[in-house]
Amino acid sequence: MVRMYALPKEEEVRNAIYFALRKNKSFPSLVKLREAVINELKKMNESYTISMRRVRIIAARSGFVKVNAKMKASNKKLKVCPICGAKLEPIKNYSLLGEEVVIGYKCKLCSYRASIKNELPTRYSFQLAR
Ligand SMILES: [Zn+2]
Repeated sequence: MVRMYALPKEEEVRNAIYFALRKNKSFPSLVKLREAVINELKKMNESYTISMRRVRIIAARSGFVKVNAKMKASNKKLKVCPICGAKLEPIKNYSLLGEEVVIGYKCKLCSYRASIKNELPTRYSFQLAR
C-alpha cells in the first residue's frame, strides 16, 4: 500500500494542539505531544503528518501553550530560539571600561533567555497556559 502524506495548515495544527492539551493537560515530552497531535490531525485528514520541529514551533507561538525546556550546557552556538524558532537577539551590557559586552541572548517572540554560556534543550514539556 502506498501511503500518501499531507501537511496540515497552521490553523489545523493549532486546533489539534489545543484539543490534545484539553484532554491531557500537559505532556512530558515533545514525542508525546507530537503523538497526541497526530492523533487529532488524523481525525481531520487520515494522511496528515507533522514533524517534531513544526509541532514545537507552532505550540510555542500559539499563545496558549506554555513550553518548558530543560537545558544543558553545550559548546554549540544557538542560532535561533530553541523554544519557538525565532531569531535571538544579544543582551548587551557595558564593562567598567565602557566596552559593549554580550552577556546573553533573548528571544523577542517568547520569553526565552540564555546566558552567554551556550545551552541546548534536552527535553521539552508542554502545558496549557492560563
Ligand atoms: Zn522564542
